[in-house]
Amino acid sequence: MERQREETRRIEAFRNAARTILPLPEDEVRRRAEAGTLTELPGIGPSTASVITDACNGVVPDRLVRLEKTSGPLAHGGEQLRSLLRGDLHSHSDWSDGGSPLEEMAMTAMEVGHDYLVLTDHSPRLRVAHGLSAERLARQLGVVEAVNEHLGGSFTLLKGIEVDILDDGSLDQTPEMLGRLDVRVASVHSKLKMDEAPMTRRMVAAVRNPHTNVLGHCTGRLVTGNRGTRPPSRFDARAVFTACAEEGVAVEINSRPERRDPPSRLLELARDLGCLFSIDSDAHAPGQLDMLDHGAARATEAGIDPDRIVNTWERDRLLEWASARL
Ligand SMILES: [Zn+2]
Ligand SMILES: [Zn+2]
Repeated sequence: MERQREETRRIEAFRNAARTILPLPEDEVRRRAEAGTLTELPGIGPSTASVITDACNGVVPDRLVRLEKTSGPLAHGGEQLRSLLRGDLHSHSDWSDGGSPLEEMAMTAMEVGHDYLVLTDHSPRLRVAHGLSAERLARQLGVVEAVNEHLGGSFTLLKGIEVDILDDGSLDQTPEMLGRLDVRVASVHSKLKMDEAPMTRRMVAAVRNPHTNVLGHCTGRLVTGNRGTRPPSRFDARAVFTACAEEGVAVEINSRPERRDPPSRLLELARDLGCLFSIDSDAHAPGQLDMLDHGAARATEAGIDPDRIVNTWERDRLLEWASARL
C-alpha cells in the first residue's frame, strides 16, 4: 500500500491492527476470529478483521492477492542500475515525520536487499516535522547502535541526518553532533522563493561545509501529489553543481514521484559538470524504500555512470568518502 502511496489513514489502520494482534497469544486470536469478536479489540475494524480471519484460516487475504499483483518494479528502464544499488542515503522514521519506528525501516531495508540504510531524520528548526534537537539525536544514535548490535553486521543502519540549510547557508545542527554521524544530507526546506543570488550563496555555502555529503532535493519543486505543486527554487545551478563537483558532494536524485528532483535539465548539467550522485528514496514509511526504482530509471535515462552514484559503493567506500573532508 505504501509502494502505491495509498492514503496514510488506511495504511495506519493496518499498522494499528498489527500492533494490537502481534502481542496476543495465537489461540486467543484464533478463538476471536472464529467467534467474530476481533473487532472488539482496539484498532481493529471490519476490513482488518477480515484480513486477520483469512490469515487464521490459512487463506491468503484478497486484499493481499490484489496488492501482490502489482509487485515488481515501480518504474521501467532502470532495473539494471537498481540492481547495483547497495543502500539508500535518505530515510525518515517516526522520530521525525516518518510513520514507522526506525527498527522497522531497518528490517524492511534488509528485506529490500540493502547492505545499508542511512537514517536521516530532520533537524531542530523543522518543527512541523518534529526535527530532532541535539539531545534527541544523541539518544537516537544510542538506539541505532543497539539495533546494529542486534543485527550482527550483515546489514548496517547508518547514522545520519537531513539537516536544514539555514538562510545564510549554515547547517541546522551542532558541528559536534554532525561530526558523530556517518552521512549528512543537507536540504533547503524554508524560504524556497528566495531571490536567485542569495539562494545561490546559501546553497554554495552549504555545499562547501565539510560536513555536507549530499545535497538533498536541490530545487524543492513538487510536480504532483496531495501536497499540491510548487515551482523549483531559483539559483545558479552551474555555480552550485561546480561547488558539488569540487567538494565531492553528491547531488541527490530524489526518487519520490512528487519531487522528481533535480529536473532533467539540471540532472544533465550536474552530469556534465562531473558531479557525484546519490539515488535516494526519501522514504517516510517502509514500503516507500522501493521508490529507488524511479530514481534508477531517471539516472539511467540521463546516462549516468553507475560508479559516480555513491550508493552503488560498498559500505566502507561510502563511509570513507563521507568522512573525507572532516
Ligand atoms: Zn527534505
Ligand atoms: Zn527527507
